[in-house]
Amino acid sequence: MPEMPEVQAHAERLTEEFAGRTLRRFVPLTFTALKTARPAPDEAYGQPLLDVGRRGKYLLLRFEPVTFVVHLMQGGRLLVDTKQSAKPRGGQARWVFGDDGPALLLTEQGTERRAGVWCVPTEDVLTALPLERLGPEAATIEPSELAARFADRSMRIHGFLRDQRSVAGVGRRLANEILHRAKISPFAMTGKLGAAGAATVVTATRDAVAAGLAYERGRDDMSSSKDRPGRVHGRTGEPCPVCGDTVRAVEYSGYTVNYCPTCQTGGKVLADNTTSRFLR
Ligand SMILES: [Zn+2]
Repeated sequence: MPEMPEVQAHAERLTEEFAGRTLRRFVPLTFTALKTARPAPDEAYGQPLLDVGRRGKYLLLRFEPVTFVVHLMQGGRLLVDTKQSAKPRGGQARWVFGDDGPALLLTEQGTERRAGVWCVPTEDVLTALPLERLGPEAATIEPSELAARFADRSMRIHGFLRDQRSVAGVGRRLANEILHRAKISPFAMTGKLGAAGAATVVTATRDAVAAGLAYERGRDDMSSSKDRPGRVHGRTGEPCPVCGDTVRAVEYSGYTVNYCPTCQTGGKVLADNTTSRFLR
């Protein structure tokens, strides 16, 4: 799934290419693509795209008076669409602009159909669904605020970081990378990390995001997960680049927690009681 660095760099590329262009129409290509009934998308017709922003893992196509909020979920992509074919593969929705240039096309491969578009008044976009529930941006939260959130909700730090209501923008990959940089166990309880732990996590988050952004900004399109650089994520069985110990995994049904025992758990190998242990 695209996380904050991928979405941010993609928003910057789309702003570069599409800002200032006039929206001619918005075309849902499936019944489920548009999640809102009003305001109507045609309120933006004839208006220039102000920019493409980001909040958490969402892309924001900002017009006056409405903004299109786009969530890519697992397999969604917002693509530059030069062909504008009648039935594009995996097509969910299309933004057509008022000149001969390309359109923007939301696609989602697979059958889950979870990517979507919300049309929201621009002046309320940050406080309306679907963005209203998001926590502060992970990359800019202050240590004191993170410490307060740790104290409010004691849970495993890996789950806390991935919960968009705690902090926004972090997914499975970044959570693994942040905790490795912070030298904190993915199973550590947030209620016990305190101010020092929060400060460490803030620094690690900024470093991991900066590394991800540097990579994504050097690309012409959004990376796929397997291409993204990382120290532990997706590196089960490989040596830790910091200490040389073997990167370990705890498998869950939807994701993998990767960590280095020497760097993060005092050498302890975390219990992996799931059926997929033989795949490690
Ligand atoms: Zn290590």
